[in-house]
Formats: sequence, structure tokens, C-alpha cells
Amino acid sequence: MDILENIKKIKNSIPENVKLIAVSKFKSVEDIQAAYDAGQRCFGENKAQEMSAKYPQLPQDIEWHFIGHLQTNKVKYIVPFVTLIHSVDNYNLLKIINKEAIKNNRIIDCLLQFHIAEEETKFGFNFQEVEEMLKDEQFKTLQNIRICGVMGMATFTDDQPEIRKEFSSLKSMFYKLKIKYFAEKSYFKELSMGMSDDYLLAIEEGSTMIRVGSAIFGARNYQK
Ligand SMILES: *Cc1c(COP(=O)(O)O)cnc(C)c1O
Repeated sequence: MDILENIKKIKNSIPENVKLIAVSKFKSVEDIQAAYDAGQRCFGENKAQEMSAKYPQLPQDIEWHFIGHLQTNKVKYIVPFVTLIHSVDNYNLLKIINKEAIKNNRIIDCLLQFHIAEEETKFGFNFQEVEEMLKDEQFKTLQNIRICGVMGMATFTDDQPEIRKEFSSLKSMFYKLKIKYFAEKSYFKELSMGMSDDYLLAIEEGSTMIRVGSAIFGARNYQK
């Protein structure tokens, strides 16, 4: 697996304004260092303890993105250093992130994860749940979090039109929220969608951040 070549190839195939998050879950510190040496600075992990164990072993200018389901009791492990949490999938989690952010004297950037896939197993809000949260009085008191956009994962399928439809629905929810709740917030601008098999399609549908693992690091040693 030539990590340098893979990163170059992906970078050359995407517009400059789309951010590449290298998903390094299950991969070694050495692999991450190789990607770093190839110029990659943003990495994504989906387990709080794995990410917080890797963090001190690698260069300090790495941006760490959290992309997996986050349990409330694990928030404390990542809040001291995380750059962006892509996977806020319930209101209570957001409150806990805010609480830990206060303790660390940080503002934590977050994306709201929407459930857009056909599968039951993928986590995420639906539009109504997000609206209820945004209208809640307590939401306005969460001063140490910043909602910077939305994230979603398409169904695991070869059906390209289906994947496109799901990305398109995420994009339309993004714009609805932007207009109704975040019109004056310039930081509400991120649409995190697209993985190794569908990132070009996601970019066609407006993605600003792609999360790519196996196309950079090779297959992972676990059942997906
Ligand atoms: C693992 C993972 C990815 C990367 O998947 P690949 O198919 O290896 O590119 C992207 N997003 C999330 C949320 C993931 O868990």
C-alpha cells in the first residue's frame, strides 16, 4: 500500500476547497506518520480511546476529526484536543460536549449527523429532531459548542442513483437549516459526506469534507 501515492491521487482528483480527512481507524501510528510525511494533516478516528492514545504519539499540528458514534462517557477523552466532531447524533451528547468544553476552556466545533441511509443501523438525527433541538431554550445556552454543518453516511450499496439521492437529501437539509437557523453564522458551512467508494459522487452533490480510509491506507482488518 503506497500511502503517499494514494493521497496524491485523491488530492489530484478533488477540488482544492474540499477537505480530505484521512480515516486512520484501526491503522498504526506508523501509517499515520507516513500520511503526515506525505503532507496530510487531517485525520479521522471513530473510537475515543483509540484517538486519544494516538494523539500524543504524533505531530502536534495534526487536526483530529472524530467521526464515529460517541458515547457520552467518552467525550472527556477527546474534548481537550479534537478539531471537529462530525458525529453528534443526539441532543444529550451535545450538552455533554458543551459541559466538557467548558471544563477545558474550549469551543468545540460540531456537525450534526443525519440518518440518510436505508439501513436501520446507522446513527443520526432526522430533520424534525434537529429542529426541536434548535428551538429549545437550553440550546441557546450552549456557549461552548459551535454547529458548523452536517454529516451523513449513504447506504452501503452499488446503487449509484440511490447514493446520489441520499447525498442530495443531506444537502437540502443543510440548506434548509442554513436559511432558517444559521443564516448569519458564517461558520455553518460544512457538508461532510463521501467515503472511499463514493467521494466523487459526494463532491458532485456539494460535499466540503470527504472522509476517506481504505483508499488511502488499504483495507482494514475487521468486518465492516
Ligand atoms: C470508516 C469510516 C469512513 C471511511 O470509510 P472508507 O470506506 O474506508 O473510506 C468514513 N466515515 C465514517 C463515519 C467511517 O466510520
